[in-house]
Amino acid sequence: MKQRSVAILGAGIMGCCTALMLARKGIDVTLVDAAAEPFQGASRWNEGKIHLGYLYAADRGFRSARHFLSGSLSFRPLVEQLLESSIEPTIGQRSDIFLCHRDSVVDVQSQWAYLQAVDKLVGEHPDAANYLLDSRHCQSSKIATKEIGNLTNHEDIIGGFNVPEHSVSTNTIADMFVNALNNEPRINQVMNCRVTSVCSTNSHGHESWKIVDSTGESGNFDILINALWEGKLAIDKSAGLELPFEWSHRYRRALFIQTSKLLDVPSTIITTGAFGDIKNYDGHEFYLSWYPSGLSAYGTGICPPAVPRLDSTERDQLVSKIFSNLADYLPKVRRIQKYLDTCRLEGGWVFAAGRGELSSPKSTLHRRDEFGISQLGGYFSVDTGKYGSAPWLAKRLADLITG
Ligand SMILES: Cc1cc2nc3c(=O)[nH]c(=O)nc-3n(C[C@H](O)[C@H](O)[C@H](O)COP(=O)(O)OP(=O)(O)OC[C@H]3O[C@@H](n4cnc5c(N)ncnc54)[C@H](O)[C@@H]3O)c2cc1C
Repeated sequence: MKQRSVAILGAGIMGCCTALMLARKGIDVTLVDAAAEPFQGASRWNEGKIHLGYLYAADRGFRSARHFLSGSLSFRPLVEQLLESSIEPTIGQRSDIFLCHRDSVVDVQSQWAYLQAVDKLVGEHPDAANYLLDSRHCQSSKIATKEIGNLTNHEDIIGGFNVPEHSVSTNTIADMFVNALNNEPRINQVMNCRVTSVCSTNSHGHESWKIVDSTGESGNFDILINALWEGKLAIDKSAGLELPFEWSHRYRRALFIQTSKLLDVPSTIITTGAFGDIKNYDGHEFYLSWYPSGLSAYGTGICPPAVPRLDSTERDQLVSKIFSNLADYLPKVRRIQKYLDTCRLEGGWVFAAGRGELSSPKSTLHRRDEFGISQLGGYFSVDTGKYGSAPWLAKRLADLITG
């Protein structure tokens, strides 16, 4: 039987996991991206929280938590299989602390009830042992007021919880994926190619797909997979796929830091709304974000809005703003600043089938349960939803395509 030809648009975690899975099943894949190399966007520069749903307390129906679980609980085994290597060194070993803000969209009592219910959902899941660290018997717990005082003395923090959720260093994982892709002879990487549309032809009942960029049409693919994240909707429209009910594009900037000294600063998130967080991966590598400062573009059009470029003075100002806003709440940030070795201000798109302000309980961004795969003949489009869901969705795509 003639082998089917497959093209994948987008070389972030979604496109790359799918390409590796298909290649390992003996299928030749063309992987296309506008950037010069794979993993240059959100999949390299994000916080790497492998969501179990704890952060989505404003979604009272637990739809987000339920939607995340299968993906997040299979993230580690699937990634290790694809990379043929352990990702243990990339996993932040200490779980997260959630500090509840007075202006949180969910009050402290409701948040505590929600965390306990998610503990139950996670603990009962058959794959709970496969999370980044075995989470079968992990439970959230309240933090005593005195202990909260060791983290913050800000009057707006009115409660705190230990939450058994972890993150991975996405920058390190990105390097591992690029290496795996370069070692896979069945994957043909076509970089520096910005796709503007796709089109299909049907001859004697056989459908085939072409990719269009500024130089014209190319390819003749039996299967075309759109894993373009921020670029996805425009291409879906050209393919004739129905668009979601609502969506938004947000460009978020954050700090990616290495310190010269090993620091015991806990991973701490201020919940739930437009606040910020510290992520400690290994005592030297940190992620810092202050959402209102880092949000650099927001739009609800089919294409993402333009992202304001920053000159070096504006970059320095934004870096200082993230440090100072976060340090107002979490003074231990000053230790990270004191022992800075390298500090990169980087950004990426967040595409979501929701919109609004995170500070509003009415925002549909507080729910994330509508991501997944859509299909139109040999055309597949995937909304990754979350970094942690990508390998699981890639497996579903590969299974759909190979039957
Ligand atoms: C600051 C920040 C923090 C985040 N934190 C988390 C977190 O803690 N946990 C979590 O689960 N998720 C998080 N996310 C979301 C996460 O990063 C994304 O869900 C995930 O990386 C999406 O992967 P992807 O492969 O679909 O997209 P991407 O990695 O963005 O890949 C899409 C690729 O498509 C290419 N592309 C786009 N348009 C075109 C075009 N027209 N032609 C050719 N190529 C094109 C881009 O160059 C890019 O390489 C965060 C995102 C940001 C920005």
